[in-house]
Formats: sequence, C-alpha cells, structure tokens
Amino acid sequence: MEARRLDFPALDQDVNGNRLVYLDNAATTQKPRAVIGEIRRFYERDNSNVHRGVHELSNRATLGYEGARKRAAEFLNATSAEEIIFTRGTTESINLVASAWGARHLRRGDRILLTEMEHHSNLIPWQLLAARAGARLDFVPVTGDEGLLDLGRIDELLDGTRLFAFTHISNALGTVNPVGELCRRAKAAGAVTLVDAAQSAGHAPLNVREIGCDFLALSAHKMAGPTGMGLLYGRRELLEAMDPYQGGGEMISSVDFGGSTWAAVPHKFEAGTPDISGAFGLRAAMDYLDGIGRDRILEHDRALGAYAYARLAEIPGIRLLGPAEGRAGLVSFVLGDVHAHDVVMLADRVGIALRGGHHCTQPLHRKLGVESTTRASFYLYNTAEEIDRLADVLREIKRYFSR
Ligand code: PMP
Repeated sequence: MEARRLDFPALDQDVNGNRLVYLDNAATTQKPRAVIGEIRRFYERDNSNVHRGVHELSNRATLGYEGARKRAAEFLNATSAEEIIFTRGTTESINLVASAWGARHLRRGDRILLTEMEHHSNLIPWQLLAARAGARLDFVPVTGDEGLLDLGRIDELLDGTRLFAFTHISNALGTVNPVGELCRRAKAAGAVTLVDAAQSAGHAPLNVREIGCDFLALSAHKMAGPTGMGLLYGRRELLEAMDPYQGGGEMISSVDFGGSTWAAVPHKFEAGTPDISGAFGLRAAMDYLDGIGRDRILEHDRALGAYAYARLAEIPGIRLLGPAEGRAGLVSFVLGDVHAHDVVMLADRVGIALRGGHHCTQPLHRKLGVESTTRASFYLYNTAEEIDRLADVLREIKRYFSR
C-alpha cells in the first residue's frame, strides 16, 4: 500500500515546513495520476459534447461517457447500466430521489425514516420533502458515544414507513452500519431504501444486489475521483415510475410547445450537458481502485482505524466518539477542553491536515453534547507512522493547553 503513495502527486509536498500528512479523506481524497491523466487526456484529445453528435470527437466523448456508466454498473454489480444516473454527487443524488420519487409516492401523513447519524445531505432533502408533502420524519436513535444504531425498536419504526434512508459509514463516528440487514427489514415492512454510500464507495466492495437496496448514492471525489461528479443507483422499475428531476436538453423524447415526452431511463434524469470529463475521471478512479482491490483497501482502512483509535485512546483526557471495534478508517474526538478549531490549526502548523467542526452532522453532535469534534480520516495511502505523528502532536497540543 505504501508504494501507492507515489501515485498521488499532491502527497509529495511539504506543508509549513513538514512532510504533508493528509488525514482529511472523509472530506475528499487525493487523486492518483491515473485519474488526473485521464481527465487531461479527455480534454486534449476527445473533448466534445455527448449524444446527438455524429462527428468523431462526439462519438468518442459519448462512448467514453456511456462506457463510464457501464463501468459504474459493474463496479456496483447493478443489473444494467440504465440503473446508473450521473449526478454532481451524493447530495444531488439524494435530492433527486427526494424530488422525483417523493413527488410521486409521498402523501400527507406518510413517514420517512432516517437515523440520528445522517449527514445533512441525507437529512435536509427529506425535511424539505416532508414539509412539501405533509409527511413526518422519524429517526433510528444512536446509542451514545459508541455511536451504534439502536435497532431495538427498528421494526416498530419501520411499520408504516414509506422510505428508509441511512448511511453505510458514518462520516462523523466511523460506524459501519449493517446495510444488508437494514434493507432486509425495511423491505419486509414494505419501505423503499436509500443507502448513502459517500463514505463507503471506494473504501470497500459494494454490491447493490447483495445489499438489496432500492437506491444508493455516492460521490466520485471521496473515492480518488474528481469533484462535481457522482451517481445515483436506482432499481429500474422504481426509476421508470419516477417523474423527471430537472427539465432541459438530453432528457426528452419529443418536445412541442404544448407539452413533451421524456427520454428513457437513465437519460430522463440527466438534463443538460453532463460532467463528461468527470465521467471519464470516475471510470479511471474505479479502474484504479479495483487494480488495488477494494477488499485490500477495506482491510487497510480498518487496520488504520483500529490503530488510530488505540493510539489516541492513550492520550489523557481525550474523548473518542464511535465504536471501539469494527470501525471504518476515521476517528473523531474531543481533546479535553481544547477547541476543535485550535487542534486543527495547530496540527496544520506542522503539516497535518485534519478537520474540525460538526462535520455536517449537527443534530448528532447536539445529541452527544458536543459542539464540535476533530476528525482524522484515512485512505489507502496513509500509514501507521502518520498516525504516530498525529498522536505525538495531539499530546503536545493537550500539554500546551493544560499549562
Ligand atoms: N453523506 C456522507 C456520509 C458524507 O460524508 C458526505 C460528504 N461529507 C455527503 C453525504 C455529501 O457528499 P457530497 O458533498 O459529495 O455530495
């Protein structure tokens, strides 16, 4: 794994006089040369708009764009490429379902079930929809600092639920949720499921048919791919029963002044010129990750997550959030009474990139009685030595503030 660092040019730099230690991967990962090069190659050789064109460059762009869709279907083990809709990322994918599925299927008094650990991206779209449709939101509780879903009342909560949306891996706690089991129980209760895979795609093998979800959302930039690109997987029959999300070019079959008809899925949901280079980049990222093996990346992530938890737990007065065991490759903590922003700023002085704040999970932070936490999050290129450096720096910061 360590040799893979060389694939990531951004890691090869000093920050504030020290070797960069990039531990902000849950926000966005660095990009390998294979991805950067593919985007560059697209703009230098194939750049053209997709579909409708008959000239060579347009054909190449279309083939690459639709080829990326096929590759994404294979990456997720979807039944067909038509089940993949390209979006700007997880946030837009969830908004698409809330708008296009919600408008058709949600009635006054219906219930949507979420969990208390959702990112704002998997909360606000449902709040907006609930307000529009007169629906109600319920939440699967989080147990406390160990950050697990309390599934004690899950069947009761699912009873009468129309849609259950939940994260695979918590970006704030590092919890890995039992997505397959949650989908099974939701299905038994007749609820549609949406998995937020922002933190798991690119970190672990993902098989939508094995998970049994109806929808799954991901962002390319959190899995070694470009920003502004992502996708929504949706089961075909559900996608076909949905209205368009946005109107414009590309998503129509026939247009008249008085009314129009829609293209077939997935194009019905892709109005306007898409992020073509982003699709090329996403495909390169998927190839890159599978070249390493997502099972190996998962193993590496888990080992670093466990090591970081153990090393940081040795620091006197630190409060670690999320499960002690079975965690993903990230650790969130409160360092005594040192504010998270001070921790992040002081770590940056020695070249360590962390993130501090509520990590877009403000309700969860309120529930745990903290305003903000500091988060270190890992990816395939991080090492145990980097975690040792982090632990040393955190000790020093703690000592400095205790004087
Ligand atoms: N869900 C989770 C769990 C996330 O961690 C994030 C990004 N922090 C998102 C959703 C939103 O992803 P994006 O900003 O790429 O749309």
